[in-house]
Amino acid sequence: MPSFSSALIVWQRDHGRHGLPWQSAGPYPVWLSEIMLQQTQVATVIPYYQRFIASFPTIAALASASEEQVLAHWSGLGYYARGRNLHRAAQIVVDRHGGEFPCQYEQLLALPGIGRSTAAAICAQAYHQPYAILDGNVKRVLARYCGINGSPAIKSVEDLLWRQAEALLPQHDIAVYTQALMDMGATLCTRSKPLCGSCPVQGDCAAFQTGRVAELPSPRQRRAVPERQATLLLVMHGRDILLEKRGPAGIWGGLWCLPQFDDEAAALVWCAQQGMATDKVIRHPRAGGDPAISIKPCEAPIPFTHTFTHFKLHIAPMLLNLADKPLQVQQTGHAWMDVSDALSAAIPTPVRKLLAGILPGGQ
Ligand code: SF4
Repeated sequence: MPSFSSALIVWQRDHGRHGLPWQSAGPYPVWLSEIMLQQTQVATVIPYYQRFIASFPTIAALASASEEQVLAHWSGLGYYARGRNLHRAAQIVVDRHGGEFPCQYEQLLALPGIGRSTAAAICAQAYHQPYAILDGNVKRVLARYCGINGSPAIKSVEDLLWRQAEALLPQHDIAVYTQALMDMGATLCTRSKPLCGSCPVQGDCAAFQTGRVAELPSPRQRRAVPERQATLLLVMHGRDILLEKRGPAGIWGGLWCLPQFDDEAAALVWCAQQGMATDKVIRHPRAGGDPAISIKPCEAPIPFTHTFTHFKLHIAPMLLNLADKPLQVQQTGHAWMDVSDALSAAIPTPVRKLLAGILPGGQ
């Protein structure tokens, strides 16, 4: 029976994914694709990758772009720290490595946003060096193939998986093998309903041979997902929307967002502080009055929930149509943008959803 790696290499040639735009394209495209593919599927990544590489065709072009330009290209892909780290890493490559992407594993590990598995994937695919990858899909494949009990989220289990990943490395064709492992995890040894009948390593697979495919990998202990509330304020003046730029840290760091508050009362206090009410009192139409701010609950987008990796955010949007633009907000990291322009800027997905919703025809 062929070894695990030999079987995968043969399988990949006929059944693996070929023609992906970053394959055989050099270290920069491989690196970019590896970062984009973290937490994101190939079909989603491809159009983002193509736009990104068209705008920033070289590491030098990426390094000299502004963070805002980079994040605008990342907008909608989520996990924005990836985009910020990619940008910082490109600047480091230019400053410390003369613009040449490093080819040593340790040098790659030293760059922001590059962990052990990503460094290994770049070394294997761009430089044909024998390093083992262990992303989420590969953990699942190896937990099943090797019959490893325990959640891969547990350090000792993960360490064991790393040792197995290294022990299974081939003597040759490391790039093909690495791609095969990724392809197998994505298309064959899937989380649910794996295609064991088509699997090239079925004969050696511990999970298959012992009827434990559905049990492995062992699930992690589930903790309740924290839930948070936020009021997002859509302050409109004609077609202009008021946006605020987030600081560099946090889940939406560096992105243009809507002013965010714990609740509607806090939002209204802020509006008053920013001089959005000429009569110093912000009245809700349901409470009567015809203030400078007209709040129109009937027009406001409906509340919705956005799910992040570690928490759920229940978003209550509040739409305000202003008669005049207040002056104060222009000095506090806020900016007015035409809604269409805002949709092309670096904005997170829930904000994109809200802005698209208030334009006629959703455009
Ligand atoms: Fe995965 Fe099934 Fe192949 Fe085992 S036989 S590696 S469970 S696809």
